Amino acid sequence: MLNQALTKSSPRTFCRTHLCVSADGTERRQEVMAIERMELVMETLGLNVKEGKALLERVQHLLVAHQVHENLEQHRLCSECGKRHTSKDAGVAPVKTVFGLVEVPNPRWNRCACLSQGPKTFRPTKAWLAGRTSPEMLYLETKWASLIPFAKVADLLKDVLPVGDSANPQTIRNHLQATAERLEQELGEERQLNLFEASEEEWEQQPLPDGPITVGIDGGYVRAAHKQGWFEVIAGKSIVAFRREEEAEVPSAKCFGFVQTDDNKPRRRLWELMKSQGLRENQQVVFMSDGGENVRRMQEYLHPYSEHLIDWFHITMRLTVLQQQTKALKQERPQTGDDASKRLESVKHLLWHGNTEEALERLVDLIMDLSFIQARSATAEKVADGVSEFETYIRNNHEFIPNFGERRRQGEAISTAFVESTINQVVSRRFVKKQQMEWTLRGAHLLLQTRTKVLNNELDDAFRNWYPQFRAEAA
Ligand SMILES: [Zn+2]
Repeated sequence: MLNQALTKSSPRTFCRTHLCVSADGTERRQEVMAIERMELVMETLGLNVKEGKALLERVQHLLVAHQVHENLEQHRLCSECGKRHTSKDAGVAPVKTVFGLVEVPNPRWNRCACLSQGPKTFRPTKAWLAGRTSPEMLYLETKWASLIPFAKVADLLKDVLPVGDSANPQTIRNHLQATAERLEQELGEERQLNLFEASEEEWEQQPLPDGPITVGIDGGYVRAAHKQGWFEVIAGKSIVAFRREEEAEVPSAKCFGFVQTDDNKPRRRLWELMKSQGLRENQQVVFMSDGGENVRRMQEYLHPYSEHLIDWFHITMRLTVLQQQTKALKQERPQTGDDASKRLESVKHLLWHGNTEEALERLVDLIMDLSFIQARSATAEKVADGVSEFETYIRNNHEFIPNFGERRRQGEAISTAFVESTINQVVSRRFVKKQQMEWTLRGAHLLLQTRTKVLNNELDDAFRNWYPQFRAEAA
């Protein structure tokens, strides 16, 4: 069979790829790559990744050489007297790009004899050569490392791009952190959130703001480096309830995160975020949390005169866990289990309507009833412990439980964590608790900054702010 296939004359396909560079009307052709194909099967259809990488790398190399050569030629003559600058030394600057490491000619030229001031030599590339990594590369590294572990980003980039060893976990981490530090530097000084420095009259003349901004805040723990235990990170989400004028391009929900022991301007951070959502100085802000002490103290620091509520999401999550526990009780004692489940359901109903007093009474009754059998049933004891814990939680937070049903009818937010807790969304999935990843305070804080930019679809804008022609949007 094999021999037969070989003796048949297979048609061959050649493809020669050229790069045409034209300048001042003259055009030069350079062969980039020749691709040969024997038999057409699915795996030989078109370019494979290896060829694609080689092709892009070669084109990048030729294009860069041409661009820099042209640029140097344009600046070769002294702008004062028109004489040619003489060379002091040649020099090369390696630059990491998404299509490989390129060597940028980086000569040093002597100052023209017609000038008597300024440095004796200069590098003509200084006008444009900033850093040793292309913005596209910085962007890709930062974006992906904000979502998945550093080592995985290196693998991914190497798989699909001709980046070679320039993509490694340590470099990617450094680049992400440099990007985050740049974002941090641009954040203004710490400030009060509700800082309206004008008269009461002017305050009243402010335009009518949009619906209240609801900010959900959650705390989570990240494993610290050097066996230092765990430290707390704060994550949150800010949601505009409704808008008076429809501005479709402004997303209604944005998230933020920070390491409170490392961050010295969390108010500014939140203020900038809410401002990007159209916050006005006279706008009402409602805070929601799971009711934990730490998180509430942070909220009060962030915005002392605002309303603080329990996020409905956290109440339902706790009740769902309790209902799971009653399932086991149902198997052991069907009637008791069924009864407990129904009573928890009625507690949920009462809490939904903000009827905390009655909900607490029913919880206490349930604990009492379970206490009669818990000595004989470990399952009942487990449910009783859970209900007891829940009762304490509701008691401690009763003043922060509104009439959720009424709020919802008014079109107001009752939760900021619709399908999953904000802390999971912003923190846990990237900080991978299970994989024993360890973080420094600063490292975690910086990663949170780029991660939230990515989740909010704002990283492109940040890069365009620094590099105006970066992925320029079509006009
Ligand atoms: Zn000159």
